[in-house]
Order: sequence, then structure tokens, then C-alpha cells
Amino acid sequence: MKVEFIFVGTELLLGNIVNTNAFYLSNVCSSLGFVCYNQSVVGDNRERILETIEMSAKRSDIIILNGGLGPTEDDMTKECVCEYLNIKMNMDEDTKKAIEAYFEKKNMPLCDSNYKQALKPEGSMLLKNNNGTAPGFIIEKDGKIFILLPGPPIELENMTKDYVIPYLKTKSDGVINSVTVKMCGVCESEVENRLKDMIDRQTNPTIATYCKEGEVHVRVTAKAEDEKSANKLLRPIVKEIKSRFGVNVYSTDDEATLESSVVDLLVANNLTVTTVESCTGGLLAGRLINVPGVSEVFKEGRITYSNKSKRKTLGIKKRIIAEHTAVSAEVAELMVKGASAFNKADVIVSVTGLAGPSSDSTNIPVGRVYIGCGVKGNVKVEEYNFAGNREKVRANAVTSALFMMRRCILEYLSESVNG
Ligand code: ATP
Repeated sequence: MKVEFIFVGTELLLGNIVNTNAFYLSNVCSSLGFVCYNQSVVGDNRERILETIEMSAKRSDIIILNGGLGPTEDDMTKECVCEYLNIKMNMDEDTKKAIEAYFEKKNMPLCDSNYKQALKPEGSMLLKNNNGTAPGFIIEKDGKIFILLPGPPIELENMTKDYVIPYLKTKSDGVINSVTVKMCGVCESEVENRLKDMIDRQTNPTIATYCKEGEVHVRVTAKAEDEKSANKLLRPIVKEIKSRFGVNVYSTDDEATLESSVVDLLVANNLTVTTVESCTGGLLAGRLINVPGVSEVFKEGRITYSNKSKRKTLGIKKRIIAEHTAVSAEVAELMVKGASAFNKADVIVSVTGLAGPSSDSTNIPVGRVYIGCGVKGNVKVEEYNFAGNREKVRANAVTSALFMMRRCILEYLSESVNG
């Protein structure tokens, strides 16, 4: 069955808000096995809404409309659907009472226009809104299904989980499942190249690559009659991709991030961590601290931005900085060693680089970054040369530092196992 979406709201057209509901709803519908070919965004205008409904109803079986269910004049989604389908609306007494109770509880005045939300299209199924006043509706007519949902994301998502997903499941003739293989340390073109034979012969599952802030994600999607069959199709493909990219793959878990995969590794192996950052100015510590549960392993994060701070905090000699400059492999290594003098963390990571926008008297190119990583005293340093502006260089440096931490920890663990 074909599903399509109509997002109603002038604020979406003007770029005042991001259409996060599109992301949410298309994900829900595609994972339920529906074919999603079209999405429209339309302003709060009766003629254009009607025109869009007509076009959508011609080509799709299920039309999901989102937004424009509020009490004001410019909220007219429900009215337009009823006009298109030529059905009347009647006052729904339960919804009317619920609206009155909602306003009384909030101690807010109730206007006549609020009752507009209690009008129910004839023959529709009413979807209760437990997070607001606008109910949703499902209308089945002439072989088409119209689903009307409120705009505020919390209202939409709860209503979708409670009523729409169970309803749609009864209409779906299959499931679409996907697994995302998340990797680092390779660029998208290299990934595509190394998967070319698999991509060329793909039918079901399909393979698609995406670039994501210093990472490449490979999404493998299978359509089947049930979850078990879809997973059976996915398993060998995912296994093959993982074996081709080895250590570059950090997870296939939907919820996992690069930083959470590092933190999981630290927690699972009882390893503590400390960061000493220069050009990234705490971004690395910030990304690690974003992960719930990191307090078990994160000891300290220091920003040693100036040369003076590198000397005073980390004991790096003035002579060394003068000889090699602050953006050097030597300084990255001494940052790790200097931190280990006052902090006994198992893993110590340093970042020093030139984020730009312009170079300095050292003539070091903008984008050069050195990352040091010591695991139980065994320190490694890597040089990177990132392209892009200051923000991009710093973000890429953090991603590379996380990925390097992961590799160094895995190497340490495999050496410990192999004696
Ligand atoms: P309300 O009763 O709040 O008026 P509604 O169903 O009429 O609900 P809208 O008025 O269209 O919904 O939108 C209300 C708010 O919901 C918007 O101001 C915006 O913050 C959010 N919203 C609407 N549509 C979207 C969307 N597609 N993506 C993200 N947020 C949205």
C-alpha cells in the first residue's frame, strides 16, 4: 500500500521550524512496510490544501495529514479533508468535555473557537490526544484512508504510538527492516568502491551509503512478509559488510553513537579515561560526557589551550614547543605523558592542532591535527589533515580522536588476551 504525507503549516514553508515530523512519520511508515513515495508541505491556505489532498488521493492509498488541527482560523486541515470527502462534522460530546476540563485545570479562559477541535468528521475514528486538546482522526472512504494528526511533535508521536501504529499494522502486507552499519576512518567513495559488487547486484536487501559528520553509515534494508524473514535476508549482507571493513565498523545498533561505543568499551573493561585538549577546547570531553553512564569511567578533562598552559599544566618544556611547535606529534605525545603525571587514568587522549581560519607564523597548514592516545602508558600519535572551516576541523578532530581511542583500546585488549 502506498502512503504519503501532507505537512500543513506556513511556518514549515518559511523555514521557521524544521519538519522533524516528516522524519518521524516516514520512518514509522517505512518500517511498517509501506511504500512512501511522496511528501508535500503546504501553507495554511484552503485552496492549496484542497489541491494537495486531491493530488495525494489520486496516487496513494493512505494519506497522512499533519498539523492544522488547532482552534484558530488558519487551522483548517480537518475542514479541508471533510470538504474534499463531502462529509459533515458533528460535535463529539466526550471531546468537548475533555477540552473544558483541560482549560479548567490550566485555569485558562475557553473561547468558542476551542470547541472547533471537538468537531468529529462523520464516520471517522477519533484518536484521543493525551498531551493536548486536538484529537486526531482516521477516515476511511471510497477505498482511501485519511489520517489526521496534530502538529506538536509530542502529541503526534504519542498518538502515533498509541493508535496509528496498531491501526497501520492491520493494513500492512509486510515489514521493512533495516540495519545500519556505522563506520569511521573511511570516506564514502571508498566504502562505495569496496561494496561495488554488492551494490551492483542489490535487489532485496538494498544497500545505501550515507555520510554523517566524519562517519559513513551503510544502511541495509530488507522487505519481507514478517520480521523474522526480513532479518534472515539482512544477516548475511551485514556480516559481509562487517568483515570487509573490520575495525572501521563501530556498531550496527540503531541507538549507538561513536562516543557511546567508546564508553561501552571503557565500562565493559573497567578502564578510566582522561582528556587533554587544545584546539578542540573540551569538545571531546563534551561528547564523551553526553553518554549516560560515563561517570563510571571519565576522570578528568582539561583544556590546555595556550602554550603557557601546556607548560604549566602538563610540564612540556618551552624549548620543546619552540623546537617542534605546539601542533606537533612530539607535543601531542607529551600532553598524554604530562597528564599521566597528575592523573592515573588508564586511557589518556590528547588533541592539538590548527583549526584556522588562518595559519600562523609556524606555517603549519590549517586543518593539521595531532592526536595522542595512551592506553596503560603505551602512547601512540597520529597526524591528520582535515579540510573545511574551523568548526569542521574541530568536529572532525573529535570524531577521529574517538575512533582512535576505540582502536587503541581494542588493540590493547587483544594484546592482553594474546599475552
Ligand atoms: P495546535 O493545537 O498546537 O495548533 P496543530 O495540529 O494545529 O496543533 P500546528 O498549529 O500546525 O499544529 O503546529 C503546532 C506546532 O507544532 C508548530 O508551531 C510547531 O512547533 C509544531 N509542528 C507542527 N508541524 C511540525 C512538523 N512537521 N515538524 C515539527 N514540528 C511541527
